[in-house]
Amino acid sequence: MLAARYLGPNRLEPVDVAIGPIGEEEALIRIHACGFCGSDLGVVAGIHPRAKAPLTLGHEFSGTIEKIRTRTTNLKPGDLVTAYPLISCGHCYVCRTGDPHACRTLRLYGFDEDGAMAQYVRLPVSSLFRLPAGMSPLVGAVIEPLAVAVHGVSCAEIESEARVVAVIGAGPIGLLTALVARARGARRVVISDILPSRIQLAKQFGLEAVNAGAEIKDLVDSETSGDGADLVFECVGAPDSIREMTGLVRSRGKIVNLGVCKKPVKVDMQAVNFKEITVVGSRVYRRNDFEQAIELADSLGIRKIVTHTFPLTEVKAAFDRFQQGNEVCKVLILPNGIVE
Ligand SMILES: [Zn+2]
Ligand SMILES: [Zn+2]
Repeated sequence: MLAARYLGPNRLEPVDVAIGPIGEEEALIRIHACGFCGSDLGVVAGIHPRAKAPLTLGHEFSGTIEKIRTRTTNLKPGDLVTAYPLISCGHCYVCRTGDPHACRTLRLYGFDEDGAMAQYVRLPVSSLFRLPAGMSPLVGAVIEPLAVAVHGVSCAEIESEARVVAVIGAGPIGLLTALVARARGARRVVISDILPSRIQLAKQFGLEAVNAGAEIKDLVDSETSGDGADLVFECVGAPDSIREMTGLVRSRGKIVNLGVCKKPVKVDMQAVNFKEITVVGSRVYRRNDFEQAIELADSLGIRKIVTHTFPLTEVKAAFDRFQQGNEVCKVLILPNGIVE
């Protein structure tokens, strides 16, 4: 079968690899769609702290169970599924106390083990989530980033805190976070980006979308008589957006950081102190965030974030298009032909 393999810095190629037999409590899944994620950029650039070549990419996907050996679940061949891609150690402090998603040595399929950007993937049944039979496989492939957004929003207390919510970054995670915040009751959600194409896409979702920097600051200030946003979701993970987040939030407001900084970045701790800001990190998701993402997906109309699809044989062109950023939101590889 063909798999999208990272073979060394800036080398991503379709490669023929063998599929091993499935063991007890494992399933073989035929992949319909598998997306690129911002963190895949670091892998292919050769700067991801853990990923080592050769490696099959892909941790956000949908597929159909082809074969399965299980006594612990009622999953069966033909079921449409996605997977919870985290591999937690099970014995560090947070694993023992109910937060394995923040495991001290967290590992993921697609970074530490072969992922799902391939015609087939073999996974433990414990990682699988059944998707509703009528769900588009393209939407199914976006459940994982949607779960990131659900988890980020769960780190804030929307009902009590959120009159004005500012989301920095209108890429997949920022857009999904804005949609989930709105669905969870935020009264006013404003979102910003530096790319006009992303602002346009956000507007198609009915979001109030403006340029990053002065424009979102002015909008938030005018909406709040100069107080600032009750909640800020930082969904970029770059020095500029990290600097911006402390200026946008009101005194005693909350910042949830979802953007993954590629290296340590300066935070304005003077603002954090003067304004008594709560800054919360939000990493990946819990299993129940996945469940909620599956429930929410169809009502949010998230099919629209999939802007490009490519066959697996064109994985390098797909990656280059994704990396270029402009006019692109979610890019999916369709390893077994076209799906809708
Ligand atoms: Zn991801
Ligand atoms: Zn652990």
